[in-house]
Amino acid sequence: MTDTPLPTVLVVAVALIDVDGRVLIAKRPQGKSLAGLWEFPGGKVEPGERPEAALIRELREELGIEVSESCLAPFVFASHAYDSFHLLMPLYLCRRWDGVVAAREHDALAWVKPDKLSAYPMPPADEPLVAWLRDLL
Ligand code: C5P
Repeated sequence: MTDTPLPTVLVVAVALIDVDGRVLIAKRPQGKSLAGLWEFPGGKVEPGERPEAALIRELREELGIEVSESCLAPFVFASHAYDSFHLLMPLYLCRRWDGVVAAREHDALAWVKPDKLSAYPMPPADEPLVAWLRDLL
């Protein structure tokens, strides 16, 4: 924890939940920061972009699926200080989408029961979200 002012970066993420109650996580690709760690899909909100629109865009780009805004429910926020920025990351829940998920930008995808998520190494900002999901689902 530091008192040095850090820029805040807003990243939106989603827990896609399938009919069996499994959650989708994605492995960050080589060449990116935190490569090899598993994350909830999503990404940075561009300046002037609505967070929900950013999430819909990211899901289209990363997974090739279409999500309607009315299906997205914000659930919990992650708030984490990395060395050079402070990450604020709402996690949305989504149970309905069109299309079949495919790893377009990640190295791998996995559908995982909430009580098994802790077996997958995640960025420190994502880790607290796992306990929330386990309690919810
Ligand atoms: O995905 P992207 O690299 O654009 O995300 C920006 C930063 O936000 C990452 O470098 C990482 O530090 C953080 N992040 C995270 N957990 C996620 C997505 C991004 O901690 N699920």
